[in-house]
Amino acid sequence: MNHNILMINSQKNVAVITAFFALGGTLAGCSSTPKSTQTAGVTSQPAQPGVVPAVVIEKSGNFELIPIAGKFVAKRTKLDNGLKLIVVEDDSSPTFAYYTWMDVGSRNEVFGKTGLAHLFEHLMFKGTKNHKEGEFDAILEKAGVEGENAFTSTDHTVYHQELPKEHLELIMNLESDRMNNLVVNDDSFKTEREVVQEERRMRKENSPEGMIYQTLFETAYIDHPYHWPVIGYEQDLNMMSAQDARDFYEHYYTPDRATVVVVGDVDADKVLKLAKKYYGNLQAKNTPNVEHKTETPQVAQRRKKLELNIQVEKLWMAYKIGPSNTADTPVFEVIQAILSDGMNSRLNRALVDNGIAASVGSGSFSLRDPGLFAIMADLQKGKHVTLAEPIITRELERLKNNPVSEDELKRAKNLIRFHFLERLATHGGQAYSYGEFETEAGGMERLVALQNEIQAVTPEQIMKTSKEYFKSSGVTVVVGVPKKTIEKKNGSNL
Ligand SMILES: [Zn+2]
Repeated sequence: MNHNILMINSQKNVAVITAFFALGGTLAGCSSTPKSTQTAGVTSQPAQPGVVPAVVIEKSGNFELIPIAGKFVAKRTKLDNGLKLIVVEDDSSPTFAYYTWMDVGSRNEVFGKTGLAHLFEHLMFKGTKNHKEGEFDAILEKAGVEGENAFTSTDHTVYHQELPKEHLELIMNLESDRMNNLVVNDDSFKTEREVVQEERRMRKENSPEGMIYQTLFETAYIDHPYHWPVIGYEQDLNMMSAQDARDFYEHYYTPDRATVVVVGDVDADKVLKLAKKYYGNLQAKNTPNVEHKTETPQVAQRRKKLELNIQVEKLWMAYKIGPSNTADTPVFEVIQAILSDGMNSRLNRALVDNGIAASVGSGSFSLRDPGLFAIMADLQKGKHVTLAEPIITRELERLKNNPVSEDELKRAKNLIRFHFLERLATHGGQAYSYGEFETEAGGMERLVALQNEIQAVTPEQIMKTSKEYFKSSGVTVVVGVPKKTIEKKNGSNL
């Protein structure tokens, strides 16, 4: 079993993920990354700048019906205890994806107890009152599970599986059991804490991008919990007790903080019936979130330089943006496509075609609380970040001062539309997207609305948003440079 932290929180922005992969990043532990390029026969919407069609939600029986695209319609309902259920019937294969989104992440932690949400994710694979340790995995393996895993981010914790269709009741039984009956004893706590400490060390040694990412957030945020890494600090993990984990479970693992998303060869009425049977008896607790500070506005540039086990220099620049659901969200989607999506994007032409960078990416970290818009470049060997940074800044100035042409805008919107449809090609990709928007962006209908808003973005909006957010006094820059001497005993790349 391999549980990992999602390095980049949002898959609303496929481009940033793509860029992250291009830069050697990993999203291990997340089975929902779409691999197929099929588009499920969905037709594209006409682009009409300035006009945003409304998303019409109908009621049918117990469900609200939310049209996604083409044949896909989501059915959404809520149990009396607050548990949200989203079902999309899609019999393209006789399987289903089952995603359980818990409304808890590292933003719910307090300083001194960082890493608890992620450590807890590991503990969820231990025993319950009804199943001894190891049984959960063994039963699912026997049932033919694929993509059995979990991940923790700043804003949520997600457990997911894909199974043959006949095992729907089995997974609902097992997942509801560990949501309510988990047993956390001192031994299992200590074992998993060791596993997490090891995960920390591995990450530090093997993931230069992970180190830059962590440093970027630690530098850009000072007051807010986004400051600390999801995996937590070593000393905090060492001070934690099994009782901390039990308190955390009591407080956060409640049905009113859960969104269950089922996509695949299932019948929505049957899923609802089973949900009532297995989750219906759990008690809502309506527990409050931890109160945390609002980030103080950044008024000066912040810079960090790291020496890492890398061969070429790396540059990450980030600007503060709003939370994941504002009027600027669709504009930033278009901006990232203009800047770095595809061979003809502006930063590709300015940095890659000119032999300065090997790859470049950009995109929003759209989060529950105000996030970041980041630009990332891997330099060519022998080239320095001091050459790349002014070029990136120049391209941002261009966005502020010159309207984007209709052709370029059209190209950007088409690419975004394609990425959106691409994600619908797998049950896991769908379950991820619906769960994320339901838990973070104010409802899964925002997923559809955002696509409509993106198609309506105008050149004037791009200039306005760029002027408002890309201020040189508000940038955070993290640079990674190769270590001067490579320590052979660590087995570093030579
Ligand atoms: Zn882990």
